[in-house]
Amino acid sequence: MVRLAYTETLKRGERTSQLSWEEIHLLLSTTDLEEKQNLWDAADRVRKEWIGPEVHLRAVVEFSNYCQRNCLYCGLRKANQTLHRYRMSHREILETSIRAKEFGFQTIVLQSGEDPFYTGERIEELILAIKRETQMAIALSVGERSAKDYSAWRTAGGDRYLLKFETSSRSLFHQLRPGCKLEERIFCLQKLRQLGFEVASGNIVGLPGQTLSDLVNDILLFQKYDFDMIGIGPFISHPQTPLGSSPNGSLDLTLCVLAITRLLTRNTHLPATTAIRILSPDGCEAALAAGANILMLDFTPSIYRQHYEIYPGKGTHSIALNELPAFLASIGRKIGQGVGSRKELLKNIRDGMDQKFKNP
Ligand code: SAH
Ligand code: SF4
Repeated sequence: MVRLAYTETLKRGERTSQLSWEEIHLLLSTTDLEEKQNLWDAADRVRKEWIGPEVHLRAVVEFSNYCQRNCLYCGLRKANQTLHRYRMSHREILETSIRAKEFGFQTIVLQSGEDPFYTGERIEELILAIKRETQMAIALSVGERSAKDYSAWRTAGGDRYLLKFETSSRSLFHQLRPGCKLEERIFCLQKLRQLGFEVASGNIVGLPGQTLSDLVNDILLFQKYDFDMIGIGPFISHPQTPLGSSPNGSLDLTLCVLAITRLLTRNTHLPATTAIRILSPDGCEAALAAGANILMLDFTPSIYRQHYEIYPGKGTHSIALNELPAFLASIGRKIGQGVGSRKELLKNIRDGMDQKFKNP
């Protein structure tokens, strides 16, 4: 049964985008399907009003699965000796990017484990070459690096950077990412912002040991830092990791975190993450109906894709590009035009408001 306090809080969230810690906790902790559905519908309305029907596509190229870290949840962790490791060459990455451009993508996301083989200079050369050959927006997701590297990559033409803080709980972060510090990660995010990158962050929902209160704190951190994109994905258990016997995160809870984030951030980019899509066959549609407006599509060459196994199923599940326009049309959405940057989005929102002001 839908509670009056739930409905009132949801209405306020939708109207004002300002909710207290307790109010977010109330929205998040529901177990009632009708309340959840009302939350997802409210997020869908906010997405519709602030962003419209466009779903922007990003091509993701996972160019190396070597990693020097040992995050307890991730299949790429250094200690996983069962994984076949690969690195793509400069030429392969460039050719893949050119193909993505020919397919019509306007953004390329270069992602890898934390692999020191790709020095600051190597990545800088890659950015220069991809920019020269494709003029695509370039997003990087290669982990924590020095301020010097970040700065050189920005100067070379890097546009965006994706670095999830994963969890705002300091103790959980330190337990799950041995040798890493939450403060360092946040420092990297601030540095990236100062350098002029559009900054994407995010979390994992359903990590073993994570509480609802931790998730409320995650959402408030999203709002505080006003990230340009926020990736919210469920934990997916990988058998070759120390968390192999822990259960997967819940789809409903992930959708609730996504929806509340849409209410509180209004116009940030929110992807229907790969992990959501893998957790459930309906995940993609459900996320797009609960506030999401971005799809990250795996463009890694098929010989490598299966080996980028952050979690099981990662390399085998992908959306057929040729079916995408019909699928999006069937849910009242369409593929976004332009590079789909947040700057562009904010400008459109401002222009729309000016227009309303001129023609009230
Ligand atoms: N090495 C870089 C980028 C690759 S990892 C980094 O760590 O930032 C990309 C993302 O995969 C991580 O941010 C994490 O959120 C996600 N991930 C890793 N293992 C996962 C798992 N078992 N379930 C869900 N997401 C996972
Ligand atoms: Fe490496 Fe990133 Fe996986 Fe951690 S999450 S082990 S840094 S690839």
